[in-house]
Amino acid sequence: MQMKIYDSVKKEKVPFIPIKEKEATIYVCGPTVYDDAHLGHARSALSFDLLTRTLRALGYRTTMAKNFTDIDDKIIKKMSQTGMDLRELTQMYIDKYLSEMDALNVQRADIEPKATESLDAIESMISKLLESGCAYKISNGDIYFDTSKDSSYGSISHLNRDENENISRVCHADEKRDPKDFALWKACSGENDVCFNTSLGEGRPGWHIECSAMIEKHFEGDEKYTIDIHGGGADLLFPHHENEAAQTRCSTGHEIAKYWMHNGFVQIDGEKMSKSLGNSFFLKDALSIYPGELLRFYLISVHYRNDFNFNEVDLLSAKKRLDKLYRLKMRVMPTKASCVNKEFKNSLLGAMTDDLNSSKALSVVDTMISESNEKLDNEPKNKALKKEIAANIEFVDTLLGFGSSEPYEWFQYGISNEERVKIEQLIEERNLAKKEKNYSKADEIRDELSKMGVSLMDTAEGTKWEKRDSI
Ligand SMILES: [Zn+2]
Repeated sequence: MQMKIYDSVKKEKVPFIPIKEKEATIYVCGPTVYDDAHLGHARSALSFDLLTRTLRALGYRTTMAKNFTDIDDKIIKKMSQTGMDLRELTQMYIDKYLSEMDALNVQRADIEPKATESLDAIESMISKLLESGCAYKISNGDIYFDTSKDSSYGSISHLNRDENENISRVCHADEKRDPKDFALWKACSGENDVCFNTSLGEGRPGWHIECSAMIEKHFEGDEKYTIDIHGGGADLLFPHHENEAAQTRCSTGHEIAKYWMHNGFVQIDGEKMSKSLGNSFFLKDALSIYPGELLRFYLISVHYRNDFNFNEVDLLSAKKRLDKLYRLKMRVMPTKASCVNKEFKNSLLGAMTDDLNSSKALSVVDTMISESNEKLDNEPKNKALKKEIAANIEFVDTLLGFGSSEPYEWFQYGISNEERVKIEQLIEERNLAKKEKNYSKADEIRDELSKMGVSLMDTAEGTKWEKRDSI
């Protein structure tokens, strides 16, 4: 099956033909670690997680790198606000980011470079740019990239350079040769700055250079491109990706990436938010109320290139949709999976290879669920059927990253330990009453549990329970 992706530079859907056959190298711009991750970070991580999962399902050996920007103006500001040192502060936010992405079942990147640990590569790239005359140093020690030396500058974002308003017009403008030029290296600006001693002078790297340098450091590529796919949020197209491309082009003579992919924005729909989540944009707040698996399911229900209007009304509808998968899983438990249904596999992969059409993929899953339920209604004891359905659900988990929870636990989400102990105690009492043939007592306990919103299911593996509307 041919993978097709929308290349945001070519502005069209194109077949993915990697530099090396059956290998895919991907770099995604990661977070600047000065604060908690928000829903936009989650959306970006999920979009490229779907990309690697799909490529892996197609048999590509995939290497994904995602960086952490751990030196930046905002980080320095936060250090002075909190009194924390650079390492302590950035590591805290990196750990938080990773654990929140784990909760969303985002597979970890194979390479997670940090700017402060890539100074050798950054220094070497800036030196090359200085040597070739594509960069210049001004009197305070700052080093700028000279955009006039790159005839292809603008080819990534297609923006008319003169019309652009995002251009940095910082101080020393008199020494900056062109407003479009950007800082590769910022000279140490005083006591409160964080500086590194390098051959470029005391200072710290600009933001754009780190990605170009890290990509060169970790990937080989060929004579034309360093990596296959460069990804990130749509807001990074200009100036960040334009600048990344220019730096690599001018220091190595080849293009940074063969394909570019950008995910859309996330907006909060204030009108449809409940009191529980308010208008918080932080992922940690959403994760304190909802299962990560549900947030994942909800966030991938919209195609990655479209903007996402986050609201709790749609989130709860997504919960009902995901519940159906767990109802089906309950029906086939505890069957061992056999082989995934070929037609289903092809439909699901077909949707995802079409530029990661996850919204279509979810509707393929919906159809599989309703057809499976129908077949099970007709043949409730068909073991081969149950095994195939179990395999289909496993394939959903592999490709889309949800459906691996234990179904009964899924329907118990959000219950406090205290409540759980009480429920399980009552179930034990009921089982004892049944054993003693005290059916009226057993029924009484069932009613009591029902009032607590707990439904019981007596199965071959014992009594199972779930909490109605646990969210
Ligand atoms: Zn970047």
